[in-house]
Parts: sequence; structure tokens; C-alpha cells
Amino acid sequence: MVQARDRPIMTARHASTADVGRADPGSEKSVDVIVVGAGPVGLTAASLLATRGVRVTVFEQAEHTSDEPKAISIDDEALRVYQAAGAVDRLLGIVTPGTGTTYFDASGKPVFHAGAPRPGRFGYPFKNPFAQPDLERALQQHLHNLPGASVVMDAEVTAVWPGAAWANVRYVSRGRAETAAARYVLACDGGRSTVRRCLGVGMTGRSHPDDWLVLDVTGDRHVECYGMHHANPERPHVIIPGARGRCRYEFRLRPGEGAPGTQPDFVLVRSLLSRYRDIEPLQVERAVVYRFHSLVAKRWRVENVFLLGDAAHMMPPFAGQGLNSGIRDAANLAWKLADVLAGRLVSAALESYETERRPHVEATVRLSERLGSLAMTTNARLATRRDHLIRSALQTPAGRAYFEEMRYRPPHMYTHGLLAASDDAPVGMMIGQPRVFDAEARCIRLLDDSLGTDWALLGAGVDTQQLAEAAALVKPLVPRAAHLAIQGRRPPHPTAAPVLFDVDSALDAEFAPYLGRLVLVRPDHFVAAAWRPDAAAPNELLRYMPC
Ligand SMILES: Cc1cc2nc3c(=O)[nH]c(=O)nc-3n(C[C@H](O)[C@H](O)[C@H](O)COP(=O)(O)OP(=O)(O)OC[C@H]3O[C@@H](n4cnc5c(N)ncnc54)[C@H](O)[C@@H]3O)c2cc1C
Repeated sequence: MVQARDRPIMTARHASTADVGRADPGSEKSVDVIVVGAGPVGLTAASLLATRGVRVTVFEQAEHTSDEPKAISIDDEALRVYQAAGAVDRLLGIVTPGTGTTYFDASGKPVFHAGAPRPGRFGYPFKNPFAQPDLERALQQHLHNLPGASVVMDAEVTAVWPGAAWANVRYVSRGRAETAAARYVLACDGGRSTVRRCLGVGMTGRSHPDDWLVLDVTGDRHVECYGMHHANPERPHVIIPGARGRCRYEFRLRPGEGAPGTQPDFVLVRSLLSRYRDIEPLQVERAVVYRFHSLVAKRWRVENVFLLGDAAHMMPPFAGQGLNSGIRDAANLAWKLADVLAGRLVSAALESYETERRPHVEATVRLSERLGSLAMTTNARLATRRDHLIRSALQTPAGRAYFEEMRYRPPHMYTHGLLAASDDAPVGMMIGQPRVFDAEARCIRLLDDSLGTDWALLGAGVDTQQLAEAAALVKPLVPRAAHLAIQGRRPPHPTAAPVLFDVDSALDAEFAPYLGRLVLVRPDHFVAAAWRPDAAAPNELLRYMPC
């Protein structure tokens, strides 16, 4: 239940603490956005916001970023998000380029390798091993250098007051209760989210009873550039080799072998690893027993407070999508907030955050559950049947493509939200990131480096006048207008707008469905509208622009 707007919303633990009053919106403690939680999603959201000139403060309850063995694989899409946040060079230093996942059957034989449908399409390797603690540290350092951003460690948020114009949060830092105000608050405070509880937002789904031992070890000899899922019902397990001899192992435990909150037994660790290697205690970098959850918050927004990442959804890790989904949340919301704060979009645009993100997240949670229950089953009969069915499916081209190109993953596309649907050309899809020759910069570079981080209006084989008229139509969005020289043709007249040339057929392939059209691309690289110059303007979208 959402509480009345003007009453402070507090956790039960702090309800008896004296009210410290609200921050004055004009005071030094007021910023554009407060982010609760310096986990990877909060730090990502804050970086994206600060890169767009938004003043943002992150409150984190711990003194340091976390050192838990959690996310181990980051997608190409997520690396593209960090390109927009100006952090990708730093992060490429902590990831190992990876190709996907190889699945092994019940008897230990490889069955198929699941990789990208079009490797490199988004400008980065597909599925890349890394360690979440390294990511959090790197993002914190990145944020430290961004003007307008600050991270306050050892500051536990204990209460939140959503509001129509300003939100207030109360936090406790070094024993002192303080209050700060912001136009928006982002709850990035993880699965046990205090903010979500304060707002009275429940979750739907279930928790899984199985215990998993998760180990990060050093001195490992695995050199594969992909993860390995061993679907042996006797002992389902996952291996993900990382850089410099690091390796992640995840073992499903049998009853009595361990439980969350207990210290894993080194004798058990050594025995589980014995088929792959010997190990000394000092080579165990991290070891935790987890239980996983499939849970989605019932609503992701209360007035000007939004839920992101694990605060909004949790899933088993078998598709490697928990953090990647949280990064998508941040990438979806950050530019919308920045545009609303800058007056480029009306605040109704923010409704599209949940409309767009929820269906993909729910489908990803379902996929993660299915992968867990099928690939990681301990039921020998089910495992035999599974292996038989997959081997039969792999005999057909469609079956091969389904498994080897991961077509079982839900497509990341939007059918409703901040876009103008079209029967004429694909809308709501993320455009790839081919290399282009940028005639203005006189060099070959990645598409996003040429287009920048704001809206882009692209003319795919339209004339210069048509591009100029369309730019005037969407002027409030301040898009960067450019011509695409594709299918071997330049724009017909001299043009003030930059021209991007295809260099290796990838730009051609990406924009073939848009030939003869204007393409409006959002800052998160999704196509918001595509229309022929002589057709009706994308009115569905224009209503989000200020008059
Ligand atoms: C074993 C395992 C393997 C995984 N593998 C993958 C993978 O390969 N790929 C993938 O994409 N995902 C993976 N995940 C999921 C991923 O780790 C999570 O989705 C991710 O940590 C979520 O990030 P977050 O920032 O939303 O939340 P968190 O990481 O939980 O961070 C929340 C932050 O908020 C802080 N906080 C909490 N309450 C407060 C408060 N009241 N005030 C201030 N601060 C607060 C916390 O201290 C913490 O720093 C895995 C998870 C596990 C457990």
C-alpha cells in the first residue's frame, strides 16, 4: 500500500526515531537525483546521469563497495551502455572478451555452444567474464571524476518521502540522521530494498529451495573464452574462466552440504574442485552459499521514486542476466530523467520506464528459471530426456539456430512506450553499432562515437531538405542530424549535416529496413520512429515533447 504523499514513510526499525525534518529543496543538500545504493546498478545510473549534466548524489550504507562473488558475465549491450557513460575504456581493463556458453550433457559431452546471433553487432564481444567487485570499484572511481556527482559511503537511507515535485530521503551517517531532497530518487538498494519496503511495494514470484556454492578462485588453468554449464544431474555445476588465472565455479549442493549464511567447508570446496584442480585455502578468493529468487516488484514507481535493478527484480543467475537487466533499467531511465529535467520531454515520458522494461524483465526471469530447472536439474530421467530432445532439435537448421544463437532469449525490444509504432519499418528495436567513416571527423569510428549520447535523427537515403524539415519537427529533442551514405549512394546535394559512410557492409545491413526513411534514434539506441518523408509525422511520439 502506498502511503499518503505528505506523511513520512519510514522503515519499522526507524519509525520511532525523531523526525529530523525535510531538506529545503533550495539547500546545499538538494540535487536533481538521489540514488540509493552504490551497487553496480546505482553506480551505473549515477554515471549515466552525471554524464548528461544531472547533479546526482549516491548514498551507500556500506563503507566500501561490495566484495561478494556475484555477477560474472557482462553483455555487449551493457558495455555499450558504459561507452555512453564514458567508462568503457576503464571497464575493458577488467573484462575478458567472451563468446558465450557451452552446454555439456549428463555424461559430460559437449552438446552445443550458445553464442551471439550476430557477433560484434553492438560494438563489443558478446558475453564477457568479469568480477562484480572489480566493476563496482571501477565505477566508483569513474564517478569520482565526473562533475556534479558525489558518492556518500556509510550513509544508510532509512526513510523516503515521495512527492509530486520533490522527494526527501532520510539517511543515517556516522550515527547522525540527516535529510536530503531531490527531484527524483532511484532505489538501487538491491533485493532487500529498504526503499521498496518503505513504499509498501510487494513482489510476486518465488524463492528457490536449492543451495548453491559459489566460488571465485585464483591460480586456475582453465583458458576457455566461454562459460561451461555442466548439466550432470549428479552434481550440476558451472565454470566461468576469467582473466589472469581467476575462475568462477558454481556447484549445486546436496542437502546437508551447506546453507546460506554459513561458512563453506574447505574440505567440501577441495573435494568439489578435485576433478579439475587441487586448491590451497589462500587460492579461494571468495566463497558464499546462495539461494536464488524469481521475484518482480508489483510496481516500479511511486510518484518520483523509481525502483531499478535487484530492487525491482531478482532472478536465478543461470542466464547471466540479473545485473545485465539492471544495467538496462539504468540505461532506459537515465536519459529520460535527464531530458525531463532539461525540459526536452514532458514528465509523462517517465511512465514509459516500467511499460518498456517490465515485459522484458518478466520474460528474462522466466528464462532464467527454465534454464535453472532444465540444465541444472538433479532428476536423472529428466536430464536424459532433455539431452535426447536437444540432440534431436540440433539436427534441424531451425533447432541449431534456436540453441546456438540463443534464440530462446527474449528479444530486447519494445512494442509500447516512448515510440511511434509503425507498420512500415521496425520500431522499438535497438540499432546495432557498426563502424562508420565519419566524413566530418575524417576517421573510421563506432557509430555511437559519431552520433554522441543524445537523440539522433538519421536520413537513410533521403534528401537534405527532407532531413532539415524533419529536424525542425523534432527540434525540442535537440537531435544530432546526420545522413547515412548507404547502398553505395551519398546524399544528393551539399549538406550541412554530417555524412556517415558504410565501411564494411554493416551500416548497410543495419539500416536496410529503413531505406528512404527518416529514423529517430533515442539516446539508448532504440529506434523511436521511422517514417517516409511524404508520410504522416510520428504524432504518437510528438506528444511527449513540450509545446
Ligand atoms: C552467484 C551469483 C551470480 C550472478 N551472476 C550474474 C551474471 O553473471 N550476470 C548478471 O547480469 N547478473 C548476475 N548476478 C546478479 C547480480 O549480481 C545482481 O543482479 C546485481 O548485484 C544487482 O545489482 P544492484 O546494484 O541492483 O543491487 P546490489 O548489488 O544488491 O547493490 C545494492 C547496494 O545498495 C546498498 N544498500 C542497500 N540498502 C541500502 C540503504 N538502505 N541505504 C544505502 N545503501 C543501501 C547495498 O549495500 C549495495 O551496495 C549474479 C548473482 C549471484 C548471486
